[in-house]
Amino acid sequence: MARQKRALVTGGVGFIGSHLCERLLNEGYRVVCMDNLRTGDLRNVAHLRDCAGFEYVEHDVTTYIDVPGGLDEIYHFASPASPADFERIPIPILKVGALGTYNTLGLAKAKGARFMLASTSEVYGDPLVHPQPEGYWGNVNPIGVRGVYDEAKRYAEAITMAYHRHHGVDTRIARIFNTYGPRMRPDDGRMIPNFISQALAGEPLTVYGDGSQTRSVQYVDDLVEGVFRLMRSEERRPVNVGNPVEYTVSEVAGVILDLSGSASELIYEPLPEDDPKQRCPDITRARESLGWEPRISAREGLKLTLEWFTRRTEEVAAER
Ligand code: UDP
Repeated sequence: MARQKRALVTGGVGFIGSHLCERLLNEGYRVVCMDNLRTGDLRNVAHLRDCAGFEYVEHDVTTYIDVPGGLDEIYHFASPASPADFERIPIPILKVGALGTYNTLGLAKAKGARFMLASTSEVYGDPLVHPQPEGYWGNVNPIGVRGVYDEAKRYAEAITMAYHRHHGVDTRIARIFNTYGPRMRPDDGRMIPNFISQALAGEPLTVYGDGSQTRSVQYVDDLVEGVFRLMRSEERRPVNVGNPVEYTVSEVAGVILDLSGSASELIYEPLPEDDPKQRCPDITRARESLGWEPRISAREGLKLTLEWFTRRTEEVAAER
């Protein structure tokens, strides 16, 4: 029988991290799930706590990381990622992108582990090229409010490549585009959790700007499949992992109103600083290198997400 692999997932209690831990356990891995609980929610892994092979460690990866025993793979997914967090906790975001990536790369080097950085479409900033291929260098305002996240992730990519070139660490870089699904925090501040929470509460949906800016939204299961394939591939260049079907923000609001049957109206609020006008991945590389493309449509994924938010709202009400 093949030896059981052991993986570390930083940010393992977060929205994406918890789905990744679950997938790795299902694939037969032993999983060390690490989180400092700044934005993660332990309820996201409550169903995994009793699984053989699942280990939870509360630790802040911006400080030295000690994981006893061997590690085959490290998935560095720790980071707040909501634009609402960029103003609320800018320095922890810079630290986890810089120091957290430095520490996890050091751990990968010490353990001889394969390393994956969760990077982001934000490395493209407010893009002047559309859709965005990996070869595009981006249009980022380093001193704007979004700069703390964008530049931390750009630094994280740079140090990942330096550890690859200089130390021979076997690295992967996933550039993750807007992802949604069960386990997003209802108060996370991003478009989909806001619209769903507002629709369920019968409150107006807050559209920023005139709602004509675009995003391409990917369901979390598609993302996890892409990430899983990338770790197994020999592709060391950054790979966009996103759904290339593009919607305006107003269209996303419309689909959520339709699926929820909510009578909420749309209200228009000021557009946040440096809010990208358009975003859509060119996924040619993921198709060619990973044989991957998203399978779940926005309507299907949003329906599953609405169902989960409805259940979570009921659970929270019952706990009170
Ligand atoms: N947005 C919105 N209403 C909200 C939250 C977000 O109109 O309540 C807009 C936001 O201005 C952006 C898009 O939705 O244009 C996606 O925002 P999100 O916070 O999900 O992440 P981003 O893609 O900007 O990182």
